[in-house]
Amino acid sequence: MLAESADLGPLVDHHCHGLVLDDLDRSSFEALMNEAAAASPLGTTFFDSMLGLAVRRWCAPVLGLETHASAEDYLARRRELGVEASRLLVAAAGIETFLVDTGVGSERLCSPAELAAMCGGTAYEVVRLETLAEDLLQTEIAPSGFAAAVEGALRESTAVAAKSVAAYRVGLDLPSEPPSTDALVAALRNQRPLAAGDHRIADPVINAWLAWSAIETGLPLQIHVGYGDADIDLLRADPLRLTPFLRATEKRGIPVLLLHNYPFHRNAAYLAQVFSHVFIDIGLAVHNTGALSQALIRETLELAPFGKLLFSSDAYGLAELYYLGALLFRRGLSAVLGELIKAGEMTSHDGDHATSLIARDNARRVYRL
Ligand SMILES: [Zn+2]
Repeated sequence: MLAESADLGPLVDHHCHGLVLDDLDRSSFEALMNEAAAASPLGTTFFDSMLGLAVRRWCAPVLGLETHASAEDYLARRRELGVEASRLLVAAAGIETFLVDTGVGSERLCSPAELAAMCGGTAYEVVRLETLAEDLLQTEIAPSGFAAAVEGALRESTAVAAKSVAAYRVGLDLPSEPPSTDALVAALRNQRPLAAGDHRIADPVINAWLAWSAIETGLPLQIHVGYGDADIDLLRADPLRLTPFLRATEKRGIPVLLLHNYPFHRNAAYLAQVFSHVFIDIGLAVHNTGALSQALIRETLELAPFGKLLFSSDAYGLAELYYLGALLFRRGLSAVLGELIKAGEMTSHDGDHATSLIARDNARRVYRL
């Protein structure tokens, strides 16, 4: 009866980030609430949004306030509690395993181990390919030694997956075969640091080669798709653009995990259905759409086989996003499955089976946890 009760059991969060544990004033809190570049939208506030409502509705009681406490009272209470506020929220999320992308914001965010310690959970690392490559370029490695160095680092890594942010850098038109070593070396020769030693890889050949390097070394490949911050050109981030790459990689049998996907979640669900090695999530959008996220979960389940959908919070910086990502996903999934059970479209055993797959078993299987 899990499926009807909103208690899905423990969750495996297959894509998330560390927390900012410093005290946050209102503008720093609002800057972390969503993907916007500016801390406060012109003449208004991010608390006037579905996410803002969800913070006041659901997070306030976790910190000992009334539901729907004002934004001012909420933030004051959060500052009063300090790190304890984050601990309470992460513990209430009910996540037992975290797969943490450590490739961005590491100077500001807590480590995977610190995050997991807040709830007695377990953390695994996901290595961001572009960050790994940019760090290598800082060492002034010769272009001819780059490929072997990346592949060596991936083979030796304790990370359970690699992640590509090609969507941010060049879009998702990844080629149907890996770029040749000659093409890679030529592209690296053209790569110029932004400032002294500061590289940013945004080159169709290098980003494509990096994505292929995960496939070649046998690491599950996470790919950022769809919704993200203003640095992304969302028009180039539709997962359908990955079709030639997915067709070409299917026979390798290495899992490819499409992250976020909103507003292309129906396209992603189609890809998860037709390609045996494709898995998807709808993290990030679930907490951003708040109480309306049930529609998103329902639309994703139209086509995505139950063995292909994974839970993720994509929480970054704020413990609220862990709690809300997990809570809203639980509520949405159990509401949708609960309706199907009531209508006689599935048994409660079927509902529990789908729930266990989506909440944790798919992630455990795909990443061999
Ligand atoms: Zn993320």
